[in-house]
Amino acid sequence: MTTRRKKIYEGKAKILYEGPEPGTLIQYFKDDATAFNAQKKAVLEGKGVINNRISEFVMLKLGAVGIPTHFIKRMNLREQLIKEVEIIPLEVICRNIVAGGLATRLGLEEGTPLPRSIIEFCLKDDKLNDPMVTEEHITAFNWASTQEIDDIMAMTLRINDFLCGMFSAVGITLVDFKIEYGRVYDGEFARVILADEISPDSCRLWDSTTNEKLDKDRFRRDMGEIIESYTEVARRLGIMKEMPTVIRGGLH
Ligand code: 5GP
Repeated sequence: MTTRRKKIYEGKAKILYEGPEPGTLIQYFKDDATAFNAQKKAVLEGKGVINNRISEFVMLKLGAVGIPTHFIKRMNLREQLIKEVEIIPLEVICRNIVAGGLATRLGLEEGTPLPRSIIEFCLKDDKLNDPMVTEEHITAFNWASTQEIDDIMAMTLRINDFLCGMFSAVGITLVDFKIEYGRVYDGEFARVILADEISPDSCRLWDSTTNEKLDKDRFRRDMGEIIESYTEVARRLGIMKEMPTVIRGGLH
């Protein structure tokens, strides 16, 4: 079925197809996993199904507390209907605990709590390895306006607060995450909404008791049990019962 639709864009973990109505797209979650700017690649059977479901769950929860998102509805195991947006070419990273790139860049010990949540911006550009940029770059090169940056920062902190609580309630620490935003137009007027996905591919999630990693770092660091960990996140969020066949494999 998907082959007959017009492909709009293919990324590393997702494909965007033309939607059934103007202003809509279909977001397809692949099983492909990449890290280190696609130098490391694998197919993790079932990942797309789990991420589709986790991202739906998170987007619906955020929508319910007033965060505008691109999510319209999940269509099937691997696809969701979303609003078409003009993507803002930034990766917005929010951090609560030192890990990954921040640990390396500043020589800090992974696991150190930050004095307050920190937001970073990276330019979405694989050729340049998604370099970190400042608000000065963002406004000078017209990637986003000052008002949009303010809106993005306020929304990101609200998302962080909400997700920290949501995960903490199920014994998971939200260490950091990456989100993306897009513009939707109402005539001349543009507003910024949350786009892309929120899943263990884009968050660092640690078991609150053991600090065991339940996210993509298991793939980046060759730790194994990747699908099992993503499934555990879904199970704790209470969404596993609707997709029991994933753990048994066999879904494509
Ligand atoms: P770091 O800068 O430490 O590598 O990443 C910070 C957070 O953003 C982590 O949760 C990481 O998973 C997420 N992140 C950063 N860049 C990317 C990216 O290109 N793709 C995805 N899926 N997540 C990213």
